[in-house]
Amino acid sequence: MRIKKLKLVGFKSFVEPAELRIESGLTGIVGPNGCGKSNLLEAIRWVMGESSAKSMRGAGMEDVIFAGTASRPPRDFAEVTILAERSDDSADSDSGDELEVTRRIERGAGSAYRSNGRDVRAKDVALIFADAATGAHSPALVSQGRIGAIISAKPQERRQMLEEAAGISGLHVRRKDAEQKLRAAESNLVRLATILADME
Ligand code: ATP
Repeated sequence: MRIKKLKLVGFKSFVEPAELRIESGLTGIVGPNGCGKSNLLEAIRWVMGESSAKSMRGAGMEDVIFAGTASRPPRDFAEVTILAERSDDSADSDSGDELEVTRRIERGAGSAYRSNGRDVRAKDVALIFADAATGAHSPALVSQGRIGAIISAKPQERRQMLEEAAGISGLHVRRKDAEQKLRAAESNLVRLATILADME
């Protein structure tokens, strides 16, 4: 998966609609301290489904919404859209090569996701990115202090990184889903057997 564009509105310091094109090769973002460089990386993690407000440097998830300044009122919502090109080997390739995922948060209403124009769940978005060997916790997104954390990671955490890099972390979620369905089917069979025994 190659990220081609990032669109933001009302996200942290990006109060006005902003668009960042990520061309092939190296894209650098430069600017003075506090201008919002880290906010861009956080926007990528957030749209991929980041659920920890702390890792977004906030107390609650609504802290990602533009909080206002002395001269500008706060916003009621934040929205980030990521545009990416999918490689053919991704598990969910039926919707074409282009992938557009949007996450929007409104004060008091929480987050909602859209994928290529359709409403989807946070879990679906996590699976889309996990299948493409990326996601909100991908080691490819190296934020400040992350290198130290990777060096001192426990073996289990290192294994998670390798699984993410190999694009198999989505399989764990699917296995959990399948096990839940299996348990539900087993309890239905037990109920069915009881009903049949009562009828005989
Ligand atoms: P440095 O070079 O020091 O690491 P940076 O360019 O990475 O800085 P960021 O940390 O991305 O900068 O941006 C911090 C700025 O974002 C601060 O000015 C902060 O006030 C602003 N900011 C963060 N959250 C919000 C918010 N919810 N509303 C408005 N501004 C915000």
